[in-house]
Amino acid sequence: MNNSELKQQLEKLVGAENVCDEMAERICYSRDCGPDKAGIPDIVVKPGSTEEVAEVVKLANKIKKAVYTWGRATTFLGSGVPQGCILLSTTRLNKILKIDPDTISVTVQAGVIWHSIDAELNKDGWELFIPGGGGLFSGTVGGSVAVNVIPHAITEYGMTGDHILGLEVVLPDGTIMRTGASANPACQPVERYANGPDVTGLFLGAYGTLGIITEITYRIRKIPEVEQFAFYAFDDYKKAAEAVNEIQKEGAATFVIGLFAGPKPKDVEGEAFIHIIVRDSKREASYRLDQAKRCCEAFNGTAHDAFGTKKYWEDHMYSWLRNVAPGPYYAGAPYMCPEVAGFMPTLQLKDSLALLYKYIEDHKAEFEKHDILIKGFDAYFTRNGVYLWIDTLYNEMKEDSWEYGLKLRGKLCDLMYGEGKMAAGGLGAGVAPHAMPKLGSYFTFLKQLKKTMDPNNVLNPGVLFLS
Ligand SMILES: Cc1cc2nc3c(=O)[nH]c(=O)nc-3n(C[C@H](O)[C@H](O)[C@H](O)COP(=O)(O)OP(=O)(O)OC[C@H]3O[C@@H](n4cnc5c(N)ncnc54)[C@H](O)[C@@H]3O)c2cc1C
Repeated sequence: MNNSELKQQLEKLVGAENVCDEMAERICYSRDCGPDKAGIPDIVVKPGSTEEVAEVVKLANKIKKAVYTWGRATTFLGSGVPQGCILLSTTRLNKILKIDPDTISVTVQAGVIWHSIDAELNKDGWELFIPGGGGLFSGTVGGSVAVNVIPHAITEYGMTGDHILGLEVVLPDGTIMRTGASANPACQPVERYANGPDVTGLFLGAYGTLGIITEITYRIRKIPEVEQFAFYAFDDYKKAAEAVNEIQKEGAATFVIGLFAGPKPKDVEGEAFIHIIVRDSKREASYRLDQAKRCCEAFNGTAHDAFGTKKYWEDHMYSWLRNVAPGPYYAGAPYMCPEVAGFMPTLQLKDSLALLYKYIEDHKAEFEKHDILIKGFDAYFTRNGVYLWIDTLYNEMKEDSWEYGLKLRGKLCDLMYGEGKMAAGGLGAGVAPHAMPKLGSYFTFLKQLKKTMDPNNVLNPGVLFLS
């Protein structure tokens, strides 16, 4: 089928105004927020319902053409848009379907922006169970679930996927399936772990390779009474890691973020810094903040003004993590970030950071030559470990800096997923080739699963290095 026949077929499925093959538009649907260049789709299609998504996928199977699902492309790890694919944008799947205080949940279509759900819930004193990641103002809920975003407040509330009660998914052959309790059409989506094995999990972190998520039911919570903040500096990063580990054991914080390397927060001495956010009832919050204080002081942490912590939390602007307003922080643009990120136990940080510091020291001259900056190693502490972002920056105006930046990402992946004892969390087309082959039989299993579920390899081929 040539492109003009394809356009006609798609127009029949979703309406002419929702199909576009103009080059100018197609170019906009290629790269995500990261450094990887990707292909340009042949055609962009915007279905308005789950049934329309299913029809597009069935057509793609018939003509054996790749479909790439596009949320808002706010990932940093490589979109992996295949050259000449059908690009399926979820932008019209933008309805909040049901806010249900009785089942303490909200059901939305996949293209809704994370924060707009919260804005709606906030009117009645509710919020999403997870505040979302830093991309909450721009990323869709479908995209965030598909990558299983590392959320803010992860120290107490856990991962994005932990609070999903059920999904509606279009499978690679175009079948529409519901997961969790509402797989039984007689039941509402009240519990994910219903009806045998948990199939919901297959689609979390699958980056759209195993199905297109069209609806999500998510837990909601009452907005806590207060939010309190603290900020500590440490002379020794190993002590900072130990202090946080004690905070985790005490359950003293809703969110702890550690800052290592990179520019230091303004007007503060030290080698490592931690921001602490506690959300709770008034009484519990002061008690927990006091516990956190004791943990920090036991490891020589010194308290400083938490103005930057509060601003970061309220604005969700990373710049405040280093106590500076957005202007000065981003003034060095156009620096772009080929990040490497992943999970490890909190105390493993002591050895893994030592490796990273040594790597930087050994490559100082090369970094200078290729205009590479270290934005910092930022740590989101989870309930029992840490998610470390290794943020190096390259200068996008310089080809050699870009090229070196991407090679550096590969080298850091190899270092950290090996000797650094880190498990990849963020994948995407750019990082998956370094991470997946290290997984042995798990990788073999995923490849087999992809082959079985998607024999024509139509959904996001190549994105997770599975096909
Ligand atoms: C300022 C900023 C801060 C950020 N902070 C964080 C952070 O703190 N933590 C974090 O983890 N990430 C963070 N990110 C990354 C980003 O926000 C998330 O990855 C994001 O929410 C993805 O949503 P999206 O709609 O942009 O998805 P996209 O980038 O469009 O898609 C991501 C992947 O999911 C697939 N996909 C998209 N929609 C669907 C669907 N409906 N069904 C199946 N597959 C789908 C795509 O094909 C792709 O493989 C940040 C981004 C920005 C810009």
